[in-house]
Amino acid sequence: MTVRFEQIQKIFQSKHSEVCALEDISFRVDAGSFVSIVGPSGCGKSTLLNILAGLETPTSGRVLLDDVPVEGTTDRIGYMPQRDQLFPWRTIWGNVTLGLEIQKKKQPQQLQRIRELLHRYGLESFEKSLPSQLSGGMRQRCALIRTLATDPGLLLLDEPFSALDYQTRLSVSDDIHTIIRREGKTALLVTHDISEAISMSDRVVVLTARPGRVKTICDLPELAGLSPMERRDHPMFHRFFNDIWKELDLGG
Ligand code: ADP
Ligand code: MG
Repeated sequence: MTVRFEQIQKIFQSKHSEVCALEDISFRVDAGSFVSIVGPSGCGKSTLLNILAGLETPTSGRVLLDDVPVEGTTDRIGYMPQRDQLFPWRTIWGNVTLGLEIQKKKQPQQLQRIRELLHRYGLESFEKSLPSQLSGGMRQRCALIRTLATDPGLLLLDEPFSALDYQTRLSVSDDIHTIIRREGKTALLVTHDISEAISMSDRVVVLTARPGRVKTICDLPELAGLSPMERRDHPMFHRFFNDIWKELDLGG
């Protein structure tokens, strides 16, 4: 799926104040590509994903999904929020089939697909377990499988690894990157971690501090086809890191 943001502006209004969260955001995400959005805390990254997911409406501008303006939510988008948000009282199976249950799509074919995903990503023997019996990394994979279960063309990931410790984050981001690539999805990842963005994406969009504007867009052709782990060892990794670091306005 292709995404196009066209001059998005978002102003939050309350009784006594106005917050301009996003200003003149325009960029595109090509079908099948992996794009990261980095920017300081509070610059409007989550707001941008919410607008794309149809959960918020922009004050002006529009978002096009495969050339069609977004109006409300759609099951073609899978949204993986910051916390894994698995339901603690549901088994892993109960959790990963939740999306299908809500969309009333629990057909044998769909359930078979989930079984295959669980098997492929090492969670097969945990179907009857509760989330509390799994490690953080496994829960995150489980959350991704739940998101993939409804077979969305576009995945939105909002700081999906921030609750994990550093070592786990490295291996889970490697897993998740592999899964997304293998399943042929278009992905948009929000993070405040430059290394994470460079280790996973084809393109990094750097936003300014609030109101978020596009500061620069950095393509990473030299790292194409490499896994996150391989990228972290690549000589260009540090070049890109420095380039983006210089652009990032951390308000120091
Ligand atoms: P980020 O994800 O980059 O940290 P957010 O998109 O969550 O930033 O928020 C951007 C700005 O918009 C913040 O100042 C935040 O307080 C404000 N904001 C977000 N959602 C709302 C809302 N529903 N009402 C009012 N202000 C909001
Ligand atoms: Mg956020």
